[in-house]
Amino acid sequence: MCLEMIRTKQYTECLICGKQGIEQAGDILPDKGILIQVLHDDGSICKFVEYSSISTFLDRSKKETPRIVSCPICRQNGRIGNFRPSKDKNFHAWRYYIEHEQIDGYWGKKNKVRKHRRCYLTNDQKNDLIKKLGRNTNVRI
Ligand SMILES: [Zn+2]
Ligand SMILES: [Zn+2]
Repeated sequence: MCLEMIRTKQYTECLICGKQGIEQAGDILPDKGILIQVLHDDGSICKFVEYSSISTFLDRSKKETPRIVSCPICRQNGRIGNFRPSKDKNFHAWRYYIEHEQIDGYWGKKNKVRKHRRCYLTNDQKNDLIKKLGRNTNVRI
């Protein structure tokens, strides 16, 4: 889509329902997909995830080198993690956390994963973080 089309908010055919609607790019997901919302005239909104390039799409499952960031909550460094609170609905709604030092105990029953202290980010903190990280990535915003 060219810039001109975005500026004039031209209607496009919705990839989900086939009706005409206005596309809006939203959140960037941890796998570098972009949440796209299509606003329809009848008020309904369709959501899907788009990838900025085919290579991004193919790379999405590869493990990225963990990013160490300064935690907005406790100010200590940690690794960005993410999870989806509800896997069936709202597939796009990711929560982010910063993983810190190891603590006592394990997660999981079969595959035991050492517990780490985690700071869970609010939506605002998450958006700030994405903005900061966005400078170093080639993801379309
Ligand atoms: Zn639609
Ligand atoms: Zn923290």
